Amino acid sequence: MLVDSHCHLDFPDFAEDLDGIVSRARAAGIGRMVTISTRVRRLQNLLAIAERYDDVYCSVGTHPHNADEEDGISPDELIALTQHPKIVALGEAGLDYFYDNGSPEAQARGFRAHIAAARATGLPLVIHTREADEDCGRILEEETAKGSFRAVLHCYTGGRELALKAVSLGLYIGFTGILTFKKSEELRALAAELPADRILVETDSPYLAPGKFRGKRNEPAYVVEVAKVLAETRGVSLDEISRQTSENFFRLFSKVKA
Ligand SMILES: [Zn+2]
Ligand SMILES: [Zn+2]
Repeated sequence: MLVDSHCHLDFPDFAEDLDGIVSRARAAGIGRMVTISTRVRRLQNLLAIAERYDDVYCSVGTHPHNADEEDGISPDELIALTQHPKIVALGEAGLDYFYDNGSPEAQARGFRAHIAAARATGLPLVIHTREADEDCGRILEEETAKGSFRAVLHCYTGGRELALKAVSLGLYIGFTGILTFKKSEELRALAAELPADRILVETDSPYLAPGKFRGKRNEPAYVVEVAKVLAETRGVSLDEISRQTSENFFRLFSKVKA
């Protein structure tokens, strides 16, 4: 079994054929999917999808791009929302300095509020970090000093230093189709180096279609392509990567039924 630990099934790209997307994922051996929240204020649409399929779960959180729009959402509000049985994680929240969406201050406030909610609930936080290694590493260290929490740096594209720091703080690292791109040698070197019990696979679909599907709409079934390259990179079989990443997933996303 493989797990797609990060997809966006509520995006309009999937509206026409969601049943087909989910059946194709099942047929490809994807046992669980987590559809990730980008706006707390649009949770209802996302939750409706998670409620419709047994093997689909969701998170609750504000993507850094929407940090200004949802500035001020408190840890308590996030904690209350996580009472729903299908909400298994916080996020995605974090820092994105690549795009000019969301002021860095609002992003940092949102990031810390989500960390507080993760700490209080014991649920994992899905962290989005792009072009923000230094600030992300600093916030992770400061917040860990206040009390530990569980998290994954999803769709990892940052440097080696931040990844190793995150791992030393107990965090996980998620890999997408970017791992399969020709130019991603450094990322593959990092993926080969990380401890086996800290790696996850994901699609971040509809974006970032891997390998032979590049340029097309991505979907959860294609997480197999990410897993294949991760297996090759680490010199293990696809079966072994499937087993290991799924075991890691159920350990981190412990509210999801195994
Ligand atoms: Zn993201
Ligand atoms: Zn995402």
